[in-house]
Amino acid sequence: MKITEVRACQPATPGSPPDWRTSLGQILVAVETDAGLTGYGVGGGGAAGIHVVRTVLRDLLLGRDPSAVERIWEEMYRATLPFGRKGIALMALSGVDLALWDLRGKAANEPVARLLGGEVGQPIPTYATVWGSIEPAITAGHRAVKLHLEKYDPRTNLNALVDYVADARRQIGDEGMLMVDAFMKWDVDSTLDVAARLVEHDVAWLEEPLLPDDLPGYADLADRCPIPIAGGEHEFTAAAFEEIIKQRLHAVLQPDVCWCGGLTELIKIYRMAAVAGLRVCPHRGAEIWSLHAIAALDSQPLAESGRSWMSWVGGQPPIIDGWVQLSEAPGLGVIVDEDSCK
Ligand SMILES: [Mg+2]
Repeated sequence: MKITEVRACQPATPGSPPDWRTSLGQILVAVETDAGLTGYGVGGGGAAGIHVVRTVLRDLLLGRDPSAVERIWEEMYRATLPFGRKGIALMALSGVDLALWDLRGKAANEPVARLLGGEVGQPIPTYATVWGSIEPAITAGHRAVKLHLEKYDPRTNLNALVDYVADARRQIGDEGMLMVDAFMKWDVDSTLDVAARLVEHDVAWLEEPLLPDDLPGYADLADRCPIPIAGGEHEFTAAAFEEIIKQRLHAVLQPDVCWCGGLTELIKIYRMAAVAGLRVCPHRGAEIWSLHAIAALDSQPLAESGRSWMSWVGGQPPIIDGWVQLSEAPGLGVIVDEDSCK
């Protein structure tokens, strides 16, 4: 089998942000082959990510046997390294990597989860990420909810922040699972102030309180914060996660498979985390791109609800009463309406 074409585009999404990162930068990558199979992946980087695919990665892929996914990953990484390494180039590369994994599954006529040693069909628990009221998530059957807290500055508005979390705990009940996300807006001292107030509300993890490069700050929190720290959605490559794992900076690792380097990197992160005894909860894990790794590699599966702007991904299994399950569809199981591309 040989790669005959590599395409990238940005599907139209109602309500997406009106800038070059339309759909928050999510791009669709299609890898066509002479066997009549097409692999689909989603990466990031918006118009810039599409440019990287079209001008650098496509040339590297044309005429290649797509089955050498890991070797191709290394070549793509090296080809983009001088201007890439983290960020947009890795996001673009992620889309290609996922398309190659989709092809690998389609060529074997098996779901990717089975190629990874796992199964499909088992119910996987999910959690809902919310930015306001948690009532719709509870009504939809979720028993685990994560609250985005970035509108509450703990340095000026700590009581309102605590009230919001306490109210969510009352609504979800003692048995429900509750997490919070600071989206990189706090510092070590304010995080410790928040944690001291939230610990009585049984918060399962406190996500991304600091900037991702503040590794010393995270080391401080790993020692002193009474609530486990989660993070990693803005980190790239298994090499970067290796350092976070080695220093045990996050109790819960949250790579985004569409950004961090694709499934090739997510698999490495899962394996390193398993050795270290750390948990992996991929960012947007209930989206089909991560779900195969969760189904196959995760000893404590918990998949984050997806994002509404990804409505152009067909074949995405629905979350029903807080559970999601993969089908027998080969590859990643994605159905793409390419007419949705602008
Ligand atoms: Mg987050």
